[in-house]
Amino acid sequence: MSEIIRGIGAAPGIGYGPAYLLFPPSGPDLAEPAGTPADLERVQIAFREISADFQQRAADTTGTRAEILHMTAGLARDKGLINNVLQKIQSGVGATTAVGQATAEYMQMLSSLGGYMAERITDLKSVRDCVIAKLRGLPLPGLPEITTPGILVAVDLAPTQVAELDTEKVLGIVLEKSGATSHTAILAESMGIPTVVAVAERAKIKAGDNLLVRGREGKIYINPQPVAVQKTLAAATAQEKILTSLRGPGHTKDGCPVHLQLNIASAADAQRFAAADTEGIGLLRTEFMFLSRPQAPSYREQVEQFQEIFHAFSARPVTVRTLDVGADKPLPFLERPAEDNPALGQRGIRLSQAEPELFMQQLQAIGAAANEFTQVMAPLVSTVAEVEWFIEQAHAAGLHRVGIMVETPAAALNSRALLENLDFVSIGTNDLTQYVMAADRLNPQVNELNNPWQPPVLELVERTCQAGEITQTEIGVCGEAAGDPLLALVLVGMGVRVLSMAAAKIPAVRLALAQHTLAECQEIAQAVRQGISPEQARAAAAQAAKEIIS
Ligand code: PEP
Ligand code: MG
Repeated sequence: MSEIIRGIGAAPGIGYGPAYLLFPPSGPDLAEPAGTPADLERVQIAFREISADFQQRAADTTGTRAEILHMTAGLARDKGLINNVLQKIQSGVGATTAVGQATAEYMQMLSSLGGYMAERITDLKSVRDCVIAKLRGLPLPGLPEITTPGILVAVDLAPTQVAELDTEKVLGIVLEKSGATSHTAILAESMGIPTVVAVAERAKIKAGDNLLVRGREGKIYINPQPVAVQKTLAAATAQEKILTSLRGPGHTKDGCPVHLQLNIASAADAQRFAAADTEGIGLLRTEFMFLSRPQAPSYREQVEQFQEIFHAFSARPVTVRTLDVGADKPLPFLERPAEDNPALGQRGIRLSQAEPELFMQQLQAIGAAANEFTQVMAPLVSTVAEVEWFIEQAHAAGLHRVGIMVETPAAALNSRALLENLDFVSIGTNDLTQYVMAADRLNPQVNELNNPWQPPVLELVERTCQAGEITQTEIGVCGEAAGDPLLALVLVGMGVRVLSMAAAKIPAVRLALAQHTLAECQEIAQAVRQGISPEQARAAAAQAAKEIIS
């Protein structure tokens, strides 16, 4: 029987295929009894079965992935590790706790060896989580092996897990948690995977159910009728044809240029989108080059990655955002004091100031690889002093087109002063909305507040645009708001001239712009000012605009 469940549309597109369920790791059983002789046997069997499982998965795939799985299978047979677990059980430690403790000791040893050995830590964590799940009789955690392309269903995913997905095999993502502007959703979107988040009824989906995911509308059809699937896919293809009929640089109907650029996160993305119909990179989220690694990439490695990216986009601007780590993007290799409110703590430029070596090495690598189209910008700036510091460091690294992200209320309110010596700014509406509305962008419970159509958010965008006009500074938007065609018209009406977004969103924004003159965009922006709620603001814009495809 077909059923529809709903969430928040986080990445557009239609995905259809069988459901693959991902289970989170459970951790040791905190209430388990002391180890018994029977546990010695159980643990050995669990390690053996997990090793065989990884070996089988290695046999089912090829290349690097097969090599990694093969090595992971080897880790699950490691005599030293297993003996250590057995000794702990013999001394009375419970079985799953013993596995946790012994793997932690092994990880510490790998970490101290550094380099290649340290990179095995992630694989060892997979072994630990699988063995513990097996001992507790729970489903095995970790990304399932996807045979037939299908839909990945999970409670939540870390951004680094999304980065590892094979886009040929994962045709859609359904998450119970997360928000539309979480980095998990943003990454899925940039990889072109239709995604629905905050799906409260996720548990209704069973492994192997056929799912039709409508990423824009935030709907999931469980076991839909084949005719309905055909119809939806045909309509999506027809719409795609209309959207992609218009190509080239963005502009309004009367020819005002609005640069349409891409948000990307890696050299691999740069290769994938090098031939895309876009005017450059408006946001390179460099932190993703660091996040899934046990150690920082070397200076040389960073230079090579930046060279690859700049080369792929040669003769088009590439906006490199310096490290934006902290909060939901902690660096695995960086030991920092724990914070009670990490989103309000040392993230973005604050962490760069606290860890100058890491930051300077990155900036120098950007400088070494840069060409005349390279520009750098700093994340999470809130004071003039931070701007001055960043400009000074960038200039010292040989980088001369310098900007910041406006994503704190302080930066927007004080934009007149902040913009004085900058070449450009890009408004990060994801964080700006989170901080203006005091609503965590990762928390589906406060999703209604977390909406860039909220009047105070729009007011701060407008204020930044006014500062841009006075100081003659280019204003862009690289938050998710830029990819909403109706909101894009409002932004352009306010003075934004660069819109940066995921590749899949550019065609609809290009078409919407081409249907409206600049004066019409200004009228739409004017109409929005009367809205006292996000719904009213959006309705006012929709009424003032022509019919657009979104
Ligand atoms: C933003 O905050 O809008 C932004 C573009 O940065 P990020 O989403 O990476 O925090
Ligand atoms: Mg941000």
